[in-house]
Amino acid sequence: MPLRSSWADLFFYPILPMSCPACALPTAGSAMCQGCRHLGGVVRSAAYLSYTWGRSKSPAYLFKNRGAFDNDLRSAVLKLFGQMARFTFGALSDDAIVIGAPPRTTKKWGKDDHLDDLLCAVEQENLTVLRKVLAYEGDEIRVADTHAIQEMRGKPVIIVDNTVVTGETVGSIAGLLRSQGASEVHLCIMSRYIDGMPDAIEAAQVYRREIPVRIENLDEWYLANWGGIGPTTSFDTVGSSDEH
Ligand SMILES: [Zn+2]
Repeated sequence: MPLRSSWADLFFYPILPMSCPACALPTAGSAMCQGCRHLGGVVRSAAYLSYTWGRSKSPAYLFKNRGAFDNDLRSAVLKLFGQMARFTFGALSDDAIVIGAPPRTTKKWGKDDHLDDLLCAVEQENLTVLRKVLAYEGDEIRVADTHAIQEMRGKPVIIVDNTVVTGETVGSIAGLLRSQGASEVHLCIMSRYIDGMPDAIEAAQVYRREIPVRIENLDEWYLANWGGIGPTTSFDTVGSSDEH
């Protein structure tokens, strides 16, 4: 089955149980990594689907190049992403607002915004999505829709993005949302990009090899493991001082 093998080769490097709860970087413990300390109190929890590295095999590129990937593979990955969102954030679904990280693009609003597939997948799991709330103005992220911002005041906001590279961008988006009145900010991310980090890549490969299931059952493995690892992690360390 070509679909199943490409599925595994491309995507299934699950997040390690021992990883930074904010950016999913493999760590020695479960505390936030050095680079994410400033996110404590700003980002409340995070869910990541997979590690990725390299160019052509990165899920980050899947959603930018529609023609380049098998449609079945694409919908399988989207379904899994939606399920991760439901498993992780379903308890917030009554009042949470989901937004996409704004695309860095030269055109104002591209018609084929690759993030929209991820947002649709989350929407299908009954989470409320608002589109085009934020936008880049040069290098700055700004509020593009003031009505939407008013709507999220006092509510939890979940940021959806396809890739986190350093956490800097989602960090500034989270900071902006908090300053605009979001009660808490969560991350729902497709891939943690670990290119150029040989230790992290090795850890991801070893972990994948040790997962006691066959490749054909990896999706079931994911479903069984949400609730126990990364995706449900909530930051109570640094974040708790910010809550009153
Ligand atoms: Zn981190």
